[in-house]
Amino acid sequence: MQNPVFIPGPTNMPEALRKAVDVPTMDHRSAAFAEVLTPALEGVRRVVKAATAAVFVFPSTGTGGWEIAITNTLSPGDRILAARHGMFSHRWIDLCQRHGLDVQIVEEEWGAGLPAEAYLEILSADRDHRIKAVLATHNETATGVVSDIAAVRRALDKARHPALLMVDGVSSIGSMDFRFDDWGVDIAVTGSQKGFMLPPGLAITVHSARAMKVAETARLARCFFDIRDMGRTNAAGLYPYTPPVGLICGLKLACDYLLDEGLEAVFARHARIANGVRAAAAAWGLPLGARSPDLYSQTVTAVRTPTGFNATDIVTRAATVYDTAFGTGLGELAGKVFRFGHLGRMSDLTALSGLAVLEMCMVDLGLPIRLGSGVAAAQEVYRSTAAAQIQRAA
Ligand SMILES: *Cc1c(COP(=O)(O)O)cnc(C)c1O
Repeated sequence: MQNPVFIPGPTNMPEALRKAVDVPTMDHRSAAFAEVLTPALEGVRRVVKAATAAVFVFPSTGTGGWEIAITNTLSPGDRILAARHGMFSHRWIDLCQRHGLDVQIVEEEWGAGLPAEAYLEILSADRDHRIKAVLATHNETATGVVSDIAAVRRALDKARHPALLMVDGVSSIGSMDFRFDDWGVDIAVTGSQKGFMLPPGLAITVHSARAMKVAETARLARCFFDIRDMGRTNAAGLYPYTPPVGLICGLKLACDYLLDEGLEAVFARHARIANGVRAAAAAWGLPLGARSPDLYSQTVTAVRTPTGFNATDIVTRAATVYDTAFGTGLGELAGKVFRFGHLGRMSDLTALSGLAVLEMCMVDLGLPIRLGSGVAAAQEVYRSTAAAQIQRAA
């Protein structure tokens, strides 16, 4: 039997979604394909709480989504504002720089959230509006930190700055509350293999009316990722090239799956499971990657190990001895943390089994941890909140 994974993506797939992707050959110019595509796009719009935004689904991954966001809105040499506070924000900055953008970087400690105050100061000082876009990583998967996107929007509004707000929601959308319209997001980016619980292979992007308008004048090179070609053909239920039909069938069902459970119930389930994982870390006496409770991610927890101990040894041991996958520390946090991904199809049963494996690894490696201590702490969280638990039979 295959063990569940505890990496923060790709996530565990519900059987129904895995099967939904497995479709016989379909003519992608048929009415049958249009009947899948249109509700899939509408489903994404509902999951991100957008009323009228344009949704695009490209054969790619979240990283491709970053490229779709910038190449369809910006021109060579444009200035953008971004904070670096983990591996994913770092990689998005790198991608922008390689496209010839002038990135004004706010360096933050890895474990901190988005610096809305610093953004406000910089945007207020930018009187001639040279900054064309502000990047925001909603959930830093490397550190287990969720940031306040509404606060970034308030900074833009307070500075009366017209820059576009681009949000990486790859590890939040579909698992934590995401309010495209309320937060005034201009572009949101995600992929298929995290909150949507599908195999990797799709970049999913959502664009505001303003973001759509600037696509007409943006001069960064793009062809495969041009949303104008995609929008024109999608309107007729078609693609500019051969679409990944199986994944799009999966996406339609994944949206139904989330909306049937109820978005607020999905978010509450993630918060509850994350609470148990954090209680376990506290029982082990291990601090978290996130600097303060307001930054705790409900989809991934990074756990710091004592100085001098290589956290990656835990992940390696879990993989080789117990056949269970956890996330390693990335970049600046390599060897300092291990990561527990608790997004997608996760239940208390699954989370408890992951915590039990971690305990065996830590005891095997000589860390002063008592078997069962973290599991018991999580059990207390889960049993005390079990009545409110909303679980679907997957
Ligand atoms: C996983 C992830 C990405 C990268 O997505 P890929 O699908 O691997 O390209 C980007 N940003 C965040 C926050 C992520 O968690």
